[in-house]
Amino acid sequence: MKLYQKYPIQLSNSLSGVKEPFEPITPGFVGMYVCGPTVYNNVHLGNTRTFLTFDIISRYFRFLGYKVRYVRNITDVGHLVGDVDEGEDKIGKKARLEQLEPMEIVKRYTEDFHTVMRQFNILPPSIEPSATGHIVEQINITKKLIDLGLAYEVNGSVYFDVKKYNQSHHYGILSGRNIEELMESGRELDSQDEKREKIDFALWKKASPEHIMRWPSPWGDGFPGWHIECTVMSTKYLGETFDLHGGGMDLKFPHHECEIAQATGANGKTPVKYWIHSNMLTVNGQKMSKSLGNSFLPAELFTGNHPMLQKGYSPMTVRFFMLQSHYSSTLDFSNEALNAAEKGYKKLSNALSLVKTLTHAGGASANADTEKKLLQLIDECYQNMSDDFNTAKTLAVLFEMASQINTWAGQKEMLSEVSTDVFEKFKITYIAFMEEALGLKEEKSVNNDLLEGTINVLIGLRKRVRTDRNFALSDKIRDDLKAIGIQLKDGKDGEMSYEIES
Ligand SMILES: [Zn+2]
Repeated sequence: MKLYQKYPIQLSNSLSGVKEPFEPITPGFVGMYVCGPTVYNNVHLGNTRTFLTFDIISRYFRFLGYKVRYVRNITDVGHLVGDVDEGEDKIGKKARLEQLEPMEIVKRYTEDFHTVMRQFNILPPSIEPSATGHIVEQINITKKLIDLGLAYEVNGSVYFDVKKYNQSHHYGILSGRNIEELMESGRELDSQDEKREKIDFALWKKASPEHIMRWPSPWGDGFPGWHIECTVMSTKYLGETFDLHGGGMDLKFPHHECEIAQATGANGKTPVKYWIHSNMLTVNGQKMSKSLGNSFLPAELFTGNHPMLQKGYSPMTVRFFMLQSHYSSTLDFSNEALNAAEKGYKKLSNALSLVKTLTHAGGASANADTEKKLLQLIDECYQNMSDDFNTAKTLAVLFEMASQINTWAGQKEMLSEVSTDVFEKFKITYIAFMEEALGLKEEKSVNNDLLEGTINVLIGLRKRVRTDRNFALSDKIRDDLKAIGIQLKDGKDGEMSYEIES
């Protein structure tokens, strides 16, 4: 019997709005698609929570014995400023502002994204396709939708006809909206608008002469709309109907709603069986946003280099912190909560190191009650994770297990209360849930006070050699520190600050 049969997964399906048993389309296999980042700036912490959620979900499917194909795209064209159909391409805009090729922007921020994913121990997907790599497929599906009467061309752009689609399907099925409401709310069409209805959305946009990112198409030079890339890449690699589609809550409408309409319209099938949406991050109870000055980049969180942070927190502390709440609840950042998470994570991490050193001598006079309790804890780890990937409850069980490990480490004779078999099961379960299911690695702790003191000694020394005009030595100190990831910054009046690169 496979683990996924012993501990069947129940998940909250955003499409049905209820918790359902997970039954994959092909037994033993899971196909999942997650909307990836738009690579025009550094990935922020809110996005990181989304990718962590789906890291946990894909890890746990594998943990239970499923074979998983996990597709997560890179959006490198078509996502317009303001998430609407008009306006500049986010990547094109950044390229213009920084006087770089769009693909230089894409490369820089794709690498930044991958670095952050690695820091958080978020595993790479099985396939990471990019929108610009699938222009032909996006043109083809757009043609198909025109042929089916579900899309229309105006002046070199192509729009999806939502009203037409809604005659035979329900546009709004995922977000619980209906077309009448949608047509009443929002802005009115202005006279220059090419769309027949304001709820219609672009599949292909004509490129103005100054638009950098452009491809030839049957409708002239242009670029694909934002929603169509996900429809193309998910169905290309996972089939016209696949198991699971995920993303942040903010993508539910219109992005995911449009994906459903495009795929259902083109293929005549419901594309996705289960939809999962992860919730937002808040800071001290407020929505995290750049304009409020309360949004962090992961690097700022690791170094503590942000006015709202008392100090830096390690990637595993932050990972642990995020796992303490269920993915469907909002999660609030505060210094107090992070400090508590740091302590909590240390406890689990210490127990992880300890349990690896413990061995059972055998020949036990097992205590039935103790064994029963331990076996129950093992069982609860699986039960909690199989119940809609409840990491918060799983961590609570791991804390109980950690206490047991600490007891054993202090009083080795107590190990004789359990049989070798139960001990080994307990040990393996703790290690596997920490490292594989939850992705919490042991972290070598750095003594921050000592590190800060040492850097300040070097800064003092560098100031001295600069006063002595020994610039060669001054540069060497700077370069050597840079080589090990500590960047010195020269400020006004010879002041120096530093930043630890993550
Ligand atoms: Zn998407």
